[in-house]
Amino acid sequence: MIQTTGQGLYLHIPFCHQRCHFCAFYLEIHQARAADAFLSSLLAEMRLYGERRPFGDQPLDSIYFGGGTPTTLTPQQLSTVLSAARDTFGTAQDAEITVEAHPESVTSEGLSQLRDAGFTRISFGAESMDQDELNRVGRPGSVLNTMQVVTAAREAGFTDINLDLMYGLPGQTIESWAASLQHTIALTPTHLSCYALTIEEGTQLRAAIQRGTVPAPDDALQNEMEDLAEDMLNPAGYRRYEISNYSRPGFASRHNRLHWTGGQYLGLGPSAQSYVGGRRFGNVSNLAAYNEALHSGSLPVTESEQLTPADDTCERLVFGLRMTDGISMEETGALAFSGLIRKVDELIAEEILERRGERVRLTARGRRYADSVAVALLASLGEPAAQGSSH
Ligand code: SF4
Repeated sequence: MIQTTGQGLYLHIPFCHQRCHFCAFYLEIHQARAADAFLSSLLAEMRLYGERRPFGDQPLDSIYFGGGTPTTLTPQQLSTVLSAARDTFGTAQDAEITVEAHPESVTSEGLSQLRDAGFTRISFGAESMDQDELNRVGRPGSVLNTMQVVTAAREAGFTDINLDLMYGLPGQTIESWAASLQHTIALTPTHLSCYALTIEEGTQLRAAIQRGTVPAPDDALQNEMEDLAEDMLNPAGYRRYEISNYSRPGFASRHNRLHWTGGQYLGLGPSAQSYVGGRRFGNVSNLAAYNEALHSGSLPVTESEQLTPADDTCERLVFGLRMTDGISMEETGALAFSGLIRKVDELIAEEILERRGERVRLTARGRRYADSVAVALLASLGEPAAQGSSH
C-alpha cells in the first residue's frame, strides 16, 4: 500500500529548444544568456526560502527538475542547482532526485555527469515510438535516439528510468499504439507514464484542429488505447498505481506519490506551484518578471491561497481517489464533512467510485470522469457531519 510521503522540491526549468505543437507549458526558447540569468535568479530564490525554512528541520524526500526541458541546461548547471538545493534544505538519505530530459538533449558523457552529481532517476519524454507520429506534432528527435539514450542512461548508472508516452496523437491507430507500447516494454524502463493527448488553448495543434487540417482526438479510440496500455503493461510486470502511471514493483515515483497523498512541496522557477502548510501558492509565469522580482530581493509569488480545512480535505480526497489503492476517507478527514460523505455515496451508487475495504477509489469507468468527480466533490462541501458515520 502506498503511504503518504513527506516533502519535496520542484524546480521548473523554463526552456526548450522548440515548442511541440500540443504544449501549453510556460517556457521560453533556450538561449545561453537567458539561462545564465535564470540560474542566478533560481539560486537567489532558493536562498530566500533557505532563510524561511518552509519544512523546518525535515529533509527533502524528493527533488524534481521539470519543465520545459531541464537538460537544455548543461550538466554542470544542473549539478550546481542540485548541490545548492541539498545544502539549503537537506535531503533524506534515500531521496529520489529526478531530472526530466528530452532524448535529444543529453549525451553519454552528460548522463554520467548527472548520475555522478547525485541524480537517481531520469524521465525521458519519448511520447511515441513511431517517427511519423512525432513529426506530425512537431516533436523534435527520433525514435532511434530514444532507444539509444535509455541504454546510455543505464550505462551511466541510472537504475530508475521513466518514459513518457502519449496516446490519441494525430494519425495514431490502435495498432501503432500497440507497437509503441511493445517497443517501450522492450526497453525495460522501471516506470511508464501514459497520457491522453489533450488539446490546450493557444497551442498550434488546437489551431490546426480548428482549421480542419488535423482531426480532433477521438474519445472512444483514446479509451480503447488506455485499456490496451493496461492490458499490455500488466503482463509485462508494470502495475498501474495511478490513472496515468505504471511502475515495476518498488519504482512508483516518490515525487508523484507526494502530490497525491497530501505531501508538501515547494516549487521554484517561473510558473512553479507550491503547497506548504495548507497554503497553495504559485510563481509568476514570466521569466523577465521572475528575474526582476528576485533581483530586487522579493519572492516571485503572484497567487496564494490558504486552504480552508474543508478544501484541504477535499483536495486530498480528489488526489487520493486517482490512485489504484484509493484513499481512506478517515485518513483524509473527509468524515467531518457531511456533503462529501453524501457525494461519495452517490458516486459509489453510480459506479463512478468503489469501496475497497476501508478505502475508496475511482472505478475503471470513473477514471474517465476524474475531473468531473473533482468538481462534484468540491461543490458538495457542506456542514460538519454527525458523529458515527459508517465510512
Ligand atoms: S519538450 Fe516538453 S515542455 Fe518542451 S515544448 Fe515539448 S512538450 Fe513542451
